[in-house]
Amino acid sequence: MSKAVNSIVVAGGGSAGWLTAGLVAAEHQANQASGLNVILVESPDVSPIGVGEGTWPTMRRSLQKMGVSETDFLRACDASFKQGTCFSGWQHGAEEFYYHPFTPPQAFNETNLARFWQPLRERVTFADAVSPQARVCESALAPKQITTPEYASNINYGYHLDAGKFAQFLRKHCVEKLGVKHILDNITTVNTDTDGDIQSLNTQSGRRIEGDLFVDCTGFSALLIGKHYDIPFISKQHILFNDRALAVQVQRESADEAIASSTHSTAQNAGWVWDIGLPARRGVGYTYSSAHSSDEQAEIELRSYLKRTAGVAVSESCSPRQLKFNPGHREKLWHRNCVAIGLSGGFVEPLEASALVMIELSAKMLSEQLPANRSIMDVVAKRFNEKFLYHWHRIIEFLKLHYVLSLRDDSDYWRDNRREHSIPESLRESLELWRYQCPWHMDLPHVDELFSSASYQYVLYGMGFKSEGPGGRQSDLVARARVENLFNDNASRTRQLLEGLPSNRELITKVHKFGFQKI
Ligand SMILES: Cc1cc2nc3c(=O)[nH]c(=O)nc-3n(C[C@H](O)[C@H](O)[C@H](O)COP(=O)(O)OP(=O)(O)OC[C@H]3O[C@@H](n4cnc5c(N)ncnc54)[C@H](O)[C@@H]3O)c2cc1C
Repeated sequence: MSKAVNSIVVAGGGSAGWLTAGLVAAEHQANQASGLNVILVESPDVSPIGVGEGTWPTMRRSLQKMGVSETDFLRACDASFKQGTCFSGWQHGAEEFYYHPFTPPQAFNETNLARFWQPLRERVTFADAVSPQARVCESALAPKQITTPEYASNINYGYHLDAGKFAQFLRKHCVEKLGVKHILDNITTVNTDTDGDIQSLNTQSGRRIEGDLFVDCTGFSALLIGKHYDIPFISKQHILFNDRALAVQVQRESADEAIASSTHSTAQNAGWVWDIGLPARRGVGYTYSSAHSSDEQAEIELRSYLKRTAGVAVSESCSPRQLKFNPGHREKLWHRNCVAIGLSGGFVEPLEASALVMIELSAKMLSEQLPANRSIMDVVAKRFNEKFLYHWHRIIEFLKLHYVLSLRDDSDYWRDNRREHSIPESLRESLELWRYQCPWHMDLPHVDELFSSASYQYVLYGMGFKSEGPGGRQSDLVARARVENLFNDNASRTRQLLEGLPSNRELITKVHKFGFQKI
């Protein structure tokens, strides 16, 4: 008989560790005597990375699945609502900007509005023609009302959150409500059986933690998948150049300052600055390419951004924290009885905040496909590897799209980003096709694509790309009449939302005071 999987050991207690432990524990009733045994061990000396503050809408489902109250989460994690990303200065390096909102275009499943928007491009932006969300973000409005139940919404949203508080919040919830056993100790050695499976982990204080399946959530140190198993790391730096970040926190000056409804990404000489608005502070950082900028020059650019957006005093007094990374991922994520989730599996610049969603999806697949015994584990591992390597491929390609479309010519960084050898062939092919037809469902073949063709449309047309050919088949009069109605519906829904939604700040203040209606 093959050994049953009864006990899972999660190594690492950052966002990856606690999200994984929580989602697996909730699915497999770790808080019941008959449930799965879920143990999380984290170092008392190595803090979680403490960045990673923008989520996707998927986080609502993950929190709900773990039985977290949205009100408690928003209060404890200094969280606010995120409705997409606003990209500034990406096209020409000027004052221009465009939105990649979370809500897909109107009637996206039935009609490809992008084709019908092409003749209107001088009159209205693509995002404004097909969705109300860019305008809602422009006005710093919330995605819902205080009377909307927890996790429900008028318009799609994820969160901005304080990563440090998030890990602490999840830890408390996982331990007190979900039955996760928590060990604070340093992992020192990994013990294997004769086949090479991990049997147990030794810790500094002399513990031996046994398990049937081990999840490596030890961040960049990748203790199990990297240091122990030596699974090769595939660098993607020849495609995505950014390998450094400088991060700061900017405290709010007053408790009623507006809170942005989207992440702001402002292009710089050798990378871009992120700006994430939380109720009590902003998280700001510059991610750049060390091959194109010195650390000193990057710091000057970051301070200059802070001077413009937070004032001279903040710009001069802040002490940016530097993070170094090699953009890329492991050759495989699941090896023998060890699966890597989070930074241990890979990381690329946070341009579309794709790291936390990869953690959520990995934890979801792990818990839903949890192998009952060792003999079927390799089948699940193979499928897991196929799925997540595909996701990595797609993420890298989608991030590169932002650079390839830029017309900036003011530094080697932007010029190098458009050099043919740095662009994946599949992306070059797609761009050629999209010159003649607008992307739609057929362009992205999997049902669970991370970036749907709607995302491609927002970035392509936000960046001024033109699809000039006939495309589609909906050129008859009936389709035109229907499309006219869709554009009009969008315009009237936009007006309604602009009139009816509270500001992000107003809603957060009310949540802190009254809370949402529980569902
Ligand atoms: C600059 C930057 C910006 C980012 N922005 C975003 C964003 O906007 N959105 C997004 O989705 N993601 C973002 N990310 C990614 C995000 O921060 C991570 O994916 C997320 O925080 C998960 O990290 P982790 O849990 O894998 O690793 P970590 O947070 O580093 O946690 C590692 C854990 O391993 C433990 N550990 C290490 N060694 C040992 C040992 N010997 N024994 C026991 N325990 C050990 C540590 O104690 C810690 O608990 C960003 C990342 C960076 C670098």
